[in-house]
Amino acid sequence: MIKELQLRILPQEAANEDALKLVAARESGASIQSIQAVRVIKRSIDARQRTIFVNVKLRVFIDELPTEPEFESVEYKDVSGANSVVVVGAGPGGLFAALRLIELGLRPIVLERGKNVRERRKDVSLIAKEHRIHGESNYCFGEGGAGAYSDGKLYTRSKKRGSVDKILNVFCQHGANPAILADAHPHIGTDKLPSVIEKIRNRIIDCGGEVHFQTRMDGLILSDGKVVGVQTNTGQEFMGPVILATGHSARDVYYYLYNNKIPVEAKGLAMGIRLEHPQLLIDQIQYHNKEGRGEYLPAAEYSMVTQVKDRGVYSFCMCPGGFVVPAGSAPEQLVVNGMSPANRGSKWANSGMVVEIHPEDFPQYAKYKELALMKLQEDLEKKCWLEANQMQTAPAQRMSDFVAGRISKDLPSTSYSPGLITSDLNKWMPEFITTRLKDGFRTFGKTSNGFLTNEAVMIGVETRTSSPVRIVRDRDSYQHLTIKGLFPCGEGAGYAGGIVSAAIDGERCAEGVATYLKS
Ligand SMILES: Cc1cc2nc3c(=O)[nH]c(=O)nc-3n(C[C@H](O)[C@H](O)[C@H](O)COP(=O)(O)OP(=O)(O)OC[C@H]3O[C@@H](n4cnc5c(N)ncnc54)[C@H](O)[C@@H]3O)c2cc1C
Repeated sequence: MIKELQLRILPQEAANEDALKLVAARESGASIQSIQAVRVIKRSIDARQRTIFVNVKLRVFIDELPTEPEFESVEYKDVSGANSVVVVGAGPGGLFAALRLIELGLRPIVLERGKNVRERRKDVSLIAKEHRIHGESNYCFGEGGAGAYSDGKLYTRSKKRGSVDKILNVFCQHGANPAILADAHPHIGTDKLPSVIEKIRNRIIDCGGEVHFQTRMDGLILSDGKVVGVQTNTGQEFMGPVILATGHSARDVYYYLYNNKIPVEAKGLAMGIRLEHPQLLIDQIQYHNKEGRGEYLPAAEYSMVTQVKDRGVYSFCMCPGGFVVPAGSAPEQLVVNGMSPANRGSKWANSGMVVEIHPEDFPQYAKYKELALMKLQEDLEKKCWLEANQMQTAPAQRMSDFVAGRISKDLPSTSYSPGLITSDLNKWMPEFITTRLKDGFRTFGKTSNGFLTNEAVMIGVETRTSSPVRIVRDRDSYQHLTIKGLFPCGEGAGYAGGIVSAAIDGERCAEGVATYLKS
């Protein structure tokens, strides 16, 4: 017999399978011996009250074993002899586009400017040691895209539940823990992502597709006004309609499109800093307990949002038990971001604290037209690098000092491995951002007692929350508005903001190409 139970239980009761079996026996009336297995269908933490509960939807197998698989698998075909489609970029957008092309009977040729996910790791770890960013292999460029050495949080604001579930199931099919299907806030972890990405690459190759690393698209090949292929830095050309999934850090791609009069438009984004607290402090605040999270609760998360002078100020990409990382994609830039391993075990909690920016907020950049906010990003990242004495040692200020307008005499310990130097962020960051951050922090300090503290440190700068440019496309065909055969895709095109939404967009673009090739 199979029974489903909706439970509201204590963290220790939800801690592991044995504990859940005991609860299942108690709640279902069955004997503990008769419970063969339990499967968590949904799980979330309710930390609103002093006593923390875990809400669990549990499937209980009484006197029988589960027969259904833990996740749904897609059947991928051999597409060796099929029409080729060029996919530029091996981030979540490009990789999920490639998998979907295979499902649809088309042959993906994936081109990636960076290295494979293992080799890339060496370049990423050298940043802290040598204070030098490799222009083609870094936290943004390389197999897996910005999603590879990311946090691997898989929640999204997308309301298309079916599409989200499909992506999560494909991740499971390629080695992710099926717990991501149950958790309200699913998370893979930066330590687990590379092997999932390798399995996706092997799938593409096993099905007859191609994956080329260190192969950068430098130009589009047009014939009769249609895109029919790409030119690359290796001198090779690859032919087929093009899914352009190059992410938001490929500024050379935006320049190429702009200079070649392929329409793009300016898009708003958010910029600010990374804020890092001791994880213990966040656990104490969120779990209302001065002892912290105890043995059975995960590292606590938070989400902050307010409005200051007509602009949103909010926390972005919060990483409990995580690390702040140097996420620039070229020399002479200092940009930070955050990630955490699967166990979220570090001593720190970080999040982007950012201010919503519209192109008209910086009129001095209007002369750069569609690329205005990209130029602002470039300038701020360079300023930050100069402030850091041309190293990756990030300029930083304690949170209360920043709000009070004081330079910090010293800085707390940090997860940011290249190190921090003390700096008055008010002096060199745009006032548009700093004044709003200050007001936002005051509000967050009121709504969350203890959050505004000198134990927290602000680390500059977080500029890449999303794309500063949209590559305009048709809503139904996913094709560029004026150029046939070109399918702008994912975060860089301005249609996604995270791993799952980029993956969903990759699938949609693949479907767009399939329709295009049939017409
Ligand atoms: C440190 C960090 C942590 C993050 N954490 C999370 C998280 O927890 N959850 C979440 O949802 N999102 C997170 N993100 C954001 C997420 O990674 C991106 O939203 C997502 O990867 C976007 O996918 P994409 O495929 O559109 O672009 P990208 O992932 O940026 O991939 C683009 C790819 O294209 C390649 N490329 C660029 N130009 C060319 C060219 N000319 N030729 C060939 N290849 C090219 C790049 O090398 C790159 O591999 C994080 C990002 C970072 C940097």
